[in-house]
Amino acid sequence: MRITVLAGGVGGARFALGLREALGGPSGVPAAEITIVANIGDDMWLSGVKVCPDLDSIMYALAGVGDTERGWGRAGESERVAAELTAYGVGWPWFTLGDLDLGTHLARTELLREGATLTEATARLAARWDLGARLLPVTDDEVPTHVVTGEGVLHFEEWWVRTRAQLPAHRFVQHGLERSRISHAAREAIASADVVLLAPSNPVVSIGTIVGIPGVRDALETAPAPVVGVSPIIAGRALRGMAATCLEVIGVEPDAAAVAAHYGARRAGGLLDGWLVAEEDAGSLGAIEAHGIAAEARPLLLTPGGPGAQVAADALALAERLR
Ligand code: GDP
Ligand code: CA
Repeated sequence: MRITVLAGGVGGARFALGLREALGGPSGVPAAEITIVANIGDDMWLSGVKVCPDLDSIMYALAGVGDTERGWGRAGESERVAAELTAYGVGWPWFTLGDLDLGTHLARTELLREGATLTEATARLAARWDLGARLLPVTDDEVPTHVVTGEGVLHFEEWWVRTRAQLPAHRFVQHGLERSRISHAAREAIASADVVLLAPSNPVVSIGTIVGIPGVRDALETAPAPVVGVSPIIAGRALRGMAATCLEVIGVEPDAAAVAAHYGARRAGGLLDGWLVAEEDAGSLGAIEAHGIAAEARPLLLTPGGPGAQVAADALALAERLR
């Protein structure tokens, strides 16, 4: 069985871990082929190196070398290089690049400079680890998310990390979107999947960015597989992250049914055949079904070492029911 997951960073990484566990672990006999198609809207060039926060969060989590408490970066990290950069007054002082993390960015940048695509560079980095999944950027093009605020336009990561999303945002802009294109590998991964899953990731700047890339909606529309999403909103709250703030910017309530309606039913030109909501949101099942989306309520809290495998298994079971 082929499972393709569209994912952002933290929610994406936690869900990917659960999915791999549900299917038998990193180096067990793979019951299924997992491909993760990751958001690249947060990517940036910093101090001369290409940083891909969401790809790296997923890679580190699956490799077992991520900082599970912070949810991003490497475990056992040091910041000696960052301290030197600060002393030189170079870089973005509010965005820390750890030493181990910098190794990843340097390696990726070298591969890109040698002419590799981001897809190829990502495969080279991933080959070092036993991920038990294939990791793909949704596109090889650069499509950074910009945030239009009253004080000018910021890169998404600057708005998110430096202002903690406190600076009111008017809108998000995917810079370079028109010229971008879904990668061949990501298109194939969606077209050949038996199941397509949307991780419980930020609906605006992770999943929203992915499906905004030209070619992604077409690929989902024509995919023979059922498309099932996992709600990132539990009882009106976005856990660990500022999805609620992002939803507010685009005028969508932070509510499991509202996000489902925003994604829309696939048979009505939207994204979803099925939507897994948290047990706390069982009251919304009727409203979601009324939009033409099959829905079920299950526990959706993803904690490290927690019930992630069950969440993934429940998403697969809903997909199976729709196949
Ligand atoms: P980012 O790229 O690091 O912001 O991560 P993602 O876009 O993948 O996911 C961030 C979102 O995941 C958060 O804003 C939450 O809405 C959602 N999320 C975080 N933890 C959980 C959890 O335990 N369960 C569920 N269902 N969603 C979660
Ligand atoms: Ca992200």
